[in-house]
Amino acid sequence: MHASLSEKHISGNERIVTARSIESTVVELVRRAMNKDSSPDRVTVTVEDLKGRHPRLLTALDVVTIQASAQETARALASRILQKNGISSICVERAIRLLTRGAAPSGENMRGAVVMDAASGERFEPDQERGVRASRFDWSEEAAEGIRKRLADSGLSHFRTYEALALATKIAHGPGVVAELCWSDDPDYTAGYVASLSSGYVRFPALKQKGGCKGGRVIFVQDPSARLEYLIRYLETEPVLIHQFGSLTEITGQGSIEAFIKYHNHV
Ligand code: AMP
Repeated sequence: MHASLSEKHISGNERIVTARSIESTVVELVRRAMNKDSSPDRVTVTVEDLKGRHPRLLTALDVVTIQASAQETARALASRILQKNGISSICVERAIRLLTRGAAPSGENMRGAVVMDAASGERFEPDQERGVRASRFDWSEEAAEGIRKRLADSGLSHFRTYEALALATKIAHGPGVVAELCWSDDPDYTAGYVASLSSGYVRFPALKQKGGCKGGRVIFVQDPSARLEYLIRYLETEPVLIHQFGSLTEITGQGSIEAFIKYHNHV
């Protein structure tokens, strides 16, 4: 589903469902698009047959919530975790600057993600206004309810966490992907995350300030020029179902946070 206002992206959502759930899913997605505070003037729902292609089955990244309440503290910790994943400090600073300002060259939010060389900080999206948008991913029908419940039991009942965890899991398994940085452009939603196969989905309740309407995603890639086409094909077209859930932890207190940052990289 893609919702826009005056050609400007407002919201989008991806689902993978069985044929019998198509109708109810389309209704759900249109309802979701119309529920946004700024009403769209166009909502497009595209229904595509996977043509017998079996989705790749993945286990969700482990979820770690780091309780850092101030934006600056959270960004500094996120930056350290990204660097622990091998991303250069120049690159991390550039990514944070881009998301703070609006990552499209026009200064607007993008519809998709920035693809950035993890060493140089160079951008590789074919269209920098739009970015690269991951599609064709979802929780499996069997896993969906259990995951919603487990997240809700941990106080993470917002639909954005549920959806972002599936998206981050797909992205983290992309060819050459080292890590991802994200915070939402929704002014009411301040949480953001750093995600990678080695760190898991590391969530911060406030990676931006309330009311802030600039956000986005940066995917850090090792040597993107060698694998860009393959990566984009994977993100846009390869169907992925998240069928299992990892662990869920909350980290509070300076000592525990330091220990997590120091020792979590185990690959
Ligand atoms: P959201 O978490 O929905 O507020 O999205 C925040 C930002 O992430 C958007 O402005 C886009 O730049 C980017 N984004 C959202 N969905 C996707 C996606 N499926 N693939 C890549 N980037 C996305």
